[in-house]
Amino acid sequence: MTDADVVIVGARCAGSAAAIALARAGRKVIAVDSARFPSPTISTHLMWPGGLAELARLGALDRVAALGAPRLPLASVEIPGVRAVGGYSAVDGISYALCVRRAGLDLALVETARAAGAEVREGTRVTGLLSAEGRVAGVEVNERGGRSYALRAPVVVGADGRRSTVARLVGAADPYLSRRDGRACYYAYFADPHEPLRAVASQWRQGAELGTAFPCDGGLTLVLLMPPDARTTDFRKYPEKEYDRTIDELLPGLGERLRGCARRSRVFGAAGLESYFRVSAGPGWALVGDAGHFKDPVTAQGIRDALRFGRLLGESLAGLPDLSAGGVDAVLAQWERRRDRECLEAFYWTDRTGRADPVGPLDVEMHRALRADPALMTRFLDIYSRIIRPAEALTTPRLAGWTARALLRSGTDRPALLRFVARTVRELQQERKQVNRRLLRYGHETHR
Ligand SMILES: Cc1cc2nc3c(=O)[nH]c(=O)nc-3n(C[C@H](O)[C@H](O)[C@H](O)COP(=O)(O)OP(=O)(O)OC[C@H]3O[C@@H](n4cnc5c(N)ncnc54)[C@H](O)[C@@H]3O)c2cc1C
Repeated sequence: MTDADVVIVGARCAGSAAAIALARAGRKVIAVDSARFPSPTISTHLMWPGGLAELARLGALDRVAALGAPRLPLASVEIPGVRAVGGYSAVDGISYALCVRRAGLDLALVETARAAGAEVREGTRVTGLLSAEGRVAGVEVNERGGRSYALRAPVVVGADGRRSTVARLVGAADPYLSRRDGRACYYAYFADPHEPLRAVASQWRQGAELGTAFPCDGGLTLVLLMPPDARTTDFRKYPEKEYDRTIDELLPGLGERLRGCARRSRVFGAAGLESYFRVSAGPGWALVGDAGHFKDPVTAQGIRDALRFGRLLGESLAGLPDLSAGGVDAVLAQWERRRDRECLEAFYWTDRTGRADPVGPLDVEMHRALRADPALMTRFLDIYSRIIRPAEALTTPRLAGWTARALLRSGTDRPALLRFVARTVRELQQERKQVNRRLLRYGHETHR
């Protein structure tokens, strides 16, 4: 006897996406979440056109758009003295970004899952797994302030985030590939009266500091600072003071953008983050979203990947006539390989992007090139929507051209630049080897 075809633990981005795909295909799916929605969570929430296309594929974009976040058809990147602005290539006809606070975004996903026919049980925590004949066969749950009971299903999907209970219970919590993130995240919301600027998602870098301003719903702008990890101790001791000081003294471009804006929230933070891949499929179980794979928030890929691979997991399972019969584990393993094929290179690119290296001569040349050529800016933004691979924009001839220009510029510390370029080239080669080794292991084509 089973209670559902699939039980999903966690009902935000990954869990709702999987639930929507399964329910649409007529499968009985129960998603449980310890939260009650609407419920905020520690996460900023910029979505590039590629992420919005995933919301549209799930049928959730209209609900999300109704929350009123302004469309962001432009992106800007600025270092001292150079500002580049550009637009996006369209993904499924969508050529803008959106920044939507998580309480509203996640509720819209839960509502879409319910409308598709999924059952979502809120305030319900998974505390254990059931097993039968060496397979996961369901979960034990605890209702907040209420009863405990079991839910039986031939497949259990852990969509329960970075501290995944399911990952721990199946013995997959230790990642097989991981990197400590180079920066911490501290963010707050500002009332923002600058209407014309509310169409632009902006980033500033100065020294080793990085800050962003993303206009969002509620007439607010989300301001995320990503100081080098080494500043975490100070931020933890005095979050508000360090946050305000960083804007005023270390990122004057961002300070200028916020003139006339008023901070309307406390400072939220996440530090000591680790990016990783966990083994994400086994007999009767899978880990999707952050439960199986996490990337440094610096490139804002997490929501998109959670939605995409949640949906793909649901669709793959829905393709099987009977989830209690054989074939489930092969489908789960195939789904995991696809996720890794699509995410491995993005993982290394994000790791490099999130390093706390100070702005250097190569960054200056890159920003000048982006400023001079809006089409190149769009090409670089295409990486964020995952339209192209990072290596297709950061080509060797481009890197060589910027290096040559930087070497010719007076005042460049040439030995330091050459050391940096040599390190970057070495790392890019190593990354390609590592990605290709894994792709080969999975039987995929390798990258050139
Ligand atoms: C500081 C920060 C900033 C970020 N900024 C961005 C950004 O700008 N853009 C972007 O795309 N991504 C961003 N990300 C990444 C993004 O937050 C995640 O990738 C995304 O939330 C993953 O969704 P998920 O559904 O996998 O997990 P989560 O959103 O973590 O949801 C997991 C759910 O599981 C539930 N749960 C956990 N354990 C149990 C249990 N035992 N029983 C029942 N329920 C359980 C939780 O209550 C929660 O609701 C950021 C992340 C961080 C940390």
